[in-house]
Amino acid sequence: MLKNIARVQMSTRSFTSAVSKAFTEGAALDASKLEINPNAAPSTPLPNDQLVFGQTFTDHMLTVEWNKGKGWSNPVIKPYGPLVLDPSACVFHYAFELFEGLKAYRTPDNKIAMFRPDMNMKRMNKSAARICLPTFDNEELIKLIGKLIEQDKHLVPEGQGYSLYLRPTMIGTTAGLGVSTPDKALLFVICSPVGPYYKTGFKAVRLEATDYATRAWPGGVGDKKLGANYAPCILPQLDAASRGYQQNLWLFGPEKNITEVGTMNVFFAFRDSKTGKNELVTAPLDGTILEGVTRDSVLALARENLDPKEWDINERYYTINEVKERAAKGELLEAFGSGTAAVVSPIKEIGWEGQDINVPLLPGEQSGPLTKQVAQWIADIQYGRTKHGNWSQIVADLN
Ligand SMILES: *Cc1c(COP(=O)(O)O)cnc(C)c1O
Repeated sequence: MLKNIARVQMSTRSFTSAVSKAFTEGAALDASKLEINPNAAPSTPLPNDQLVFGQTFTDHMLTVEWNKGKGWSNPVIKPYGPLVLDPSACVFHYAFELFEGLKAYRTPDNKIAMFRPDMNMKRMNKSAARICLPTFDNEELIKLIGKLIEQDKHLVPEGQGYSLYLRPTMIGTTAGLGVSTPDKALLFVICSPVGPYYKTGFKAVRLEATDYATRAWPGGVGDKKLGANYAPCILPQLDAASRGYQQNLWLFGPEKNITEVGTMNVFFAFRDSKTGKNELVTAPLDGTILEGVTRDSVLALARENLDPKEWDINERYYTINEVKERAAKGELLEAFGSGTAAVVSPIKEIGWEGQDINVPLLPGEQSGPLTKQVAQWIADIQYGRTKHGNWSQIVADLN
């Protein structure tokens, strides 16, 4: 435990503020300067059953250029299409790239709402600052994304499980092979109409607990949504797939702490057989964990809705060996991943040291009761059926 505390202190020491100053000089990002160049050939929406995650895009994209000294130029909404970049652009060589993922939903009164976009904007700015790309005003980008959605409103699918997946991205575009601070950048947003991650309700997954490859480490950038974090995780995934497991359960350190699953945060539910008390657990945000908006939402909703006499909700370190031992004692209740794409993703088995740890599911079903409950809480807020503070932000009124 002491070792873990030392690790937290090491990884939360921050940079000096002078570093980020250069990136706020010049014009601020300003949604009122938006120029719209409409697509002359608007497309017809695909039938819902033909939507494949991240394969179809809408008619328009948002682009905003940034230049050191001048700052942000006028935002432009224009027809979706290829970018033209110098082959020496720093994004291609040194991975000056970061992204976000969030969704917009049609509400019952025909408006379009984004789920907690302020959280994504905050995280996007943190990612940008970490790799010396420019920061921007959160509210301005939310307004611009709203305009983009309005432009493509006919392509926002309708129905439970359907939404518009939004992919804000920023890249360094400076030409030249010197490894240095980018003086040019491009922010763009593309949109993909998507259906439910699981076409027929939940599909529980098998994970392989992975300790020979490390997704993130103290002092690293695993808590930022940088493209460079993702390519190295595909080979371990293929490796796990060759043994029949869909995803990696990423372990860290000699203690074999559980951190995340694939590109999702992960939760475990236990019951203490002595006290009868339940516990919902996820790893603490110590710099090695991506600060998931879904993770934050699950924690908040569990704290609000579960009876504290029956449930403890904890962000703490826990290991694969704890899971194994407690499963053997019948104390493992449920496990699920959390992330924007699937929202919650139930887990049924975890391969570790040549054996499979079984995670209980409801009889004849693909998840446990809490996993189901959490998915319902979140969907009700996303689709505007339940109000929860400012979590659902209306960005376009189609009436
Ligand atoms: C994006 C992401 C998550 C989930 O974040 P959400 O904001 O909930 O979508 C979790 N882990 C990793 C590594 C991610 O990239």
